[in-house]
Amino acid sequence: MELRMPVPRFEQLHRQPGPFFVALGGAGMFGANLYLYGSGGQWIGIDCGLALESTASGDNRVSVPSLEALRKHDIQLSALLITHGHEDHIGAIPHLWRELGCPLYTSPFTAQLIRSKLTPNLEWPALHEIRPLQPIGLGNFQAEWIPVTHSIPESHGILLQVADKRLYHSGDWKLDQQPLIGELTAEARLRAIGREGVDVLIGDSTNAPNPGASRSEAAVQDGLSDAIRSCQGRVVVTCFASNLARLHSLAEIAMDSGRHAGLLGRSLLRMQSHGRAHGYLRSRPGFIGAWELGFLPREQQLWVCTGSQGEPAAALGRLASGDHPQLALEAGDTVLFSSRLIPGNELPLQRIREQLLGQGVQIIDDDMAPIHASGHPPQDDLRQLYSWLRPRHLLPVHGEEYHQQAHLAFARSLGINGLVPANGQLIDLSGQPCRVADMPWGLVQIQR
Ligand SMILES: [Zn+2]
Ligand SMILES: [Zn+2]
Repeated sequence: MELRMPVPRFEQLHRQPGPFFVALGGAGMFGANLYLYGSGGQWIGIDCGLALESTASGDNRVSVPSLEALRKHDIQLSALLITHGHEDHIGAIPHLWRELGCPLYTSPFTAQLIRSKLTPNLEWPALHEIRPLQPIGLGNFQAEWIPVTHSIPESHGILLQVADKRLYHSGDWKLDQQPLIGELTAEARLRAIGREGVDVLIGDSTNAPNPGASRSEAAVQDGLSDAIRSCQGRVVVTCFASNLARLHSLAEIAMDSGRHAGLLGRSLLRMQSHGRAHGYLRSRPGFIGAWELGFLPREQQLWVCTGSQGEPAAALGRLASGDHPQLALEAGDTVLFSSRLIPGNELPLQRIREQLLGQGVQIIDDDMAPIHASGHPPQDDLRQLYSWLRPRHLLPVHGEEYHQQAHLAFARSLGINGLVPANGQLIDLSGQPCRVADMPWGLVQIQR
């Protein structure tokens, strides 16, 4: 949409009640989620994540959102609110939080993941742990974290009440009656919020082009169990380390199928210890040490490893190239991809699959058996949530423009209007959402 009127100076505009919204990442792209909400000159942020791009050479380029918009307009955030602990929502915190210089609010498990990333001996702003469904006051804003199911424990939508408007920021979510680990979506509270009224929903577009409903984590457990029982030699499963429900399922399946389970890869070991500290991985005997597991007969071994995206230095990449220090695969072993390919990683992953097949290793992926579930809502889930919340307007975020447009088109079929925001566009949410100004926007590459 083109601007029709002379643009008021941002400095005058943002002192009005609004509320205003601007994405500094996460709109028109996957990753680098950072969303700002303003009213009466006060600003808060939601999430602060990394963007990953893989280059032609197979390396990962890692970036964080630029804070140029804040510097240019002399905006000091008064709070940073975090929905959940995935890297695309918390990964930029170690790089940006000191400059943001504001207190951070999130749930206990997410807080632990954040703390574990912060360089010790540096001074960090205050980190406050929230309780879900207990609203907190933040100046002009009131914020309430609403539990939702996703692919990591303690995921939340956030209800913001500001300037007589009610905004629901969905975070990442799906509907799952059997998430296996973590709380169920707080349906009763969401229905109540819908009765009270939602002016604008700012929502996850990842799977909006897809018809149908989410696959439950319990169905994935059944699919993995069937697939693993059919295997003869070693079983290696690769999945996202933060999916504690998946790790829980694999430990149980190992026990039920006469195998022992072990973890390969630093991020899995780290997530296991964070999960245990918060009571999320309680299966017994759980995971045994790699040293111990390697001595058992092949048909009793179940390895969970990192590297589902084809990262050559991760455990699966090293197994494929035959230079893992603790394990060598043999013909007749099986690798299961309990994961989704993130676009851009096709080439490195194809290389790994060819190397595995060359060793006589069998491959089972999500196209061959129901062994993965996405953490994001397809259209049946969207329809259900929107029937509870009954939002008047939608701003689709967390996706490329194609996903955002599909999300808005689907919402329109439900009678919900809105607009597709791009990064840097200042959107006035006081009525029908409209773009009122543009702010500088970009990504800054970092070294890891
Ligand atoms: Zn996300
Ligand atoms: Zn997520």
